[in-house]
Amino acid sequence: MSDCIFCKIVEGTIPSAEVYRDERLYAFKDITPQAPLHVLIVPTRHIATLNDLSAHDEGLVGEMVRRAAAIAREHGYAERGYRTVFNCQSEAGQSVFHIHLHLLAGRPMGWPPG
Ligand code: AMP
Repeated sequence: MSDCIFCKIVEGTIPSAEVYRDERLYAFKDITPQAPLHVLIVPTRHIATLNDLSAHDEGLVGEMVRRAAAIAREHGYAERGYRTVFNCQSEAGQSVFHIHLHLLAGRPMGWPPG
């Protein structure tokens, strides 16, 4: 989608700190990290919100979650712990309307989230 910042990051027209890439996923460091490790995992195809997922996307979402776990493990957080978050729509804190899974690790996390 032409005006989507995460589509531009996937295409490389906006720079980012790459963590992982394959045909279906791109992972990069969050520009405003909220933890020592803060990575965003996004599909390379534009999907605006979780509400726009179809049954066809179940495998893709599974890949996003498994990639978050793999990145956490690579950074040494598999046993210590980490948090994964999808924000959906503005009230939940979604500010970029291209779905992304936050992976946060490296500090104690409170509950409930703010
Ligand atoms: P959300 O608020 O859940 O939609 O998350 C959007 C995230 O994208 C925020 O954590 C931002 O810090 C992050 N973000 C926005 N622009 C960029 C960018 N150019 N590079 C990396 N992360 C970004």
